[in-house]
Amino acid sequence: MKIDVLTIFPVFFKEVFDFGIIRRARLTELVEINVHDLREFTTDKHRMVDDRPFGGGDGMILKCEPIFAAIENLTKTDERENYPPGTRVVLLSPQGRQFKQAVAQELADDAKHIILICGRYEGVDERVNDALVTDEISVGDYVLSGGEPAAVILVDAITRLLPEALGSETSAANDSFSNGILDCPHYTRPPEFRGRQVPEVLLSGNHAEIGKWRAQKALEKTRETRQDLLKGVDSEQ
Ligand code: SAH
Repeated sequence: MKIDVLTIFPVFFKEVFDFGIIRRARLTELVEINVHDLREFTTDKHRMVDDRPFGGGDGMILKCEPIFAAIENLTKTDERENYPPGTRVVLLSPQGRQFKQAVAQELADDAKHIILICGRYEGVDERVNDALVTDEISVGDYVLSGGEPAAVILVDAITRLLPEALGSETSAANDSFSNGILDCPHYTRPPEFRGRQVPEVLLSGNHAEIGKWRAQKALEKTRETRQDLLKGVDSEQ
C-alpha cells in the first residue's frame, strides 16, 4: 500500500507516523507514506496555493493548478477514469461520506495507492472534486481548520487493518465496530487497585466463562452509549 498526502503544511506530519503500529508497518514496508508540499507543484513566482473566491465572500480557496499537477505527477493522468487500478484519490471534507470502520476496511482491502488531499481555508476549488476525486470523506460532523488531522485519522485506521500490521499478538477482530458493536472492558495488573477489584471471572482461567462475560459486557456498553449500532444489528437479523 502506498499513501501520498498532499498538504500546504507538510511539517504537520513530521513525526505523526513514527509511532507504534504505523511506524512498524512503515519499517516492514507494509505501507509507504509520502507527504508532499503542494507549493512544490506551483509554477508561479509567488508559489501561490490559494486565491480569493469567485463571487466574493470570506476566506481563501485552495487553487486547482497545484492539486492537478500533484495528482498528475502521482497518477500520470488528470482524469479519474484513467487512474491505475487500485488508485483512490480522497478529498478530506466535512461534506463527504462519513469515515467508519467499514470504510477503513474497504480501503485497506481494495486500495493499492491512496492519495489524500488536505483542504484548508474555505475549502478546495470544486473542479478538483469534479475531475480527480474518487472518494470525498468526512471524519465527522464538525468542521476542522484543515484536512491534515483527518488525513492522520485515515492513515492510522487504514494502516492498522493491513494484513499483518497488528502482528500476531493482537487482532482487530474484537475491536469496536469490527463486529458491529463496541469492544469489551479490559484490565491488567494489579488485581486490586485503591479498593477497585478486577472482575472475578477474568482471574478464573475459565475461557468459556470469560468469553461469555466479554460478549455480555460489550453488548451492555453498546446499549449504554451506542444504541444506534444495535439497531443495525437487529435489522440485519
Ligand atoms: N467551508 C467548508 C469547510 C472548510 S474547512 C465547509 O463548510 O464545508 C477547511 C478544510 O478542512 C476542508 O477543506 C477539509 O479538507 C478539512 N475538513 C474540515 N472538516 C473536516 C471533516 N469533518 N472531515 C474531513 N476534513 C475536514
